[in-house]
Amino acid sequence: PPDKDQLGRATWTFLHTTAAYYPAQPTPAQRSQMLSLIHALPALYPCTHCAVDFGESVARHPPDVSGRAGLSRWFCERHNEVNEKLGKEVFDCAKTDERWKEGPKD
Ligand code: FAD
Repeated sequence: PPDKDQLGRATWTFLHTTAAYYPAQPTPAQRSQMLSLIHALPALYPCTHCAVDFGESVARHPPDVSGRAGLSRWFCERHNEVNEKLGKEVFDCAKTDERWKEGPKD
């Protein structure tokens, strides 16, 4: 099976970076494509228990695909749920741009 931590870091990098560069005013097509991307994860993510928990989180918290700021916050909050579950530090969602738009610091 894939290394869960390496896969997780790579996937969060992709998701947070994609959210950071998502349009402030996405077209209907872009919103629908983002929803498809998010809903594909619980079905396809190759860590089954991660995927199941993420799917439950998505069901409880409908994705905010209205624009860059809302989407970045939504992914930040989902990631923080995983952080809490794993006993990791909670990330300050005011800092998503600093971390993911202006370039990584780690
Ligand atoms: P990561 O948590 O991978 O974070 C990478 C970087 O993102 C951090 O260094 C930090 O700079 C930044 N960051 C941290 N929190 C946030 C945030 N809230 N918002 C924005 N940026 C942030 N692992 C499991 O063991 N069990 C699971 O059930 C599980 N579920 C997962 C579900 C999904 C959808 C994904 C993508 C991953 C999941 N993982 C799970 C993996 C887990 O989240 C971590 O990726 C892994 O434990 C490696 O952690 P890390 O400490 O290297 O940093």
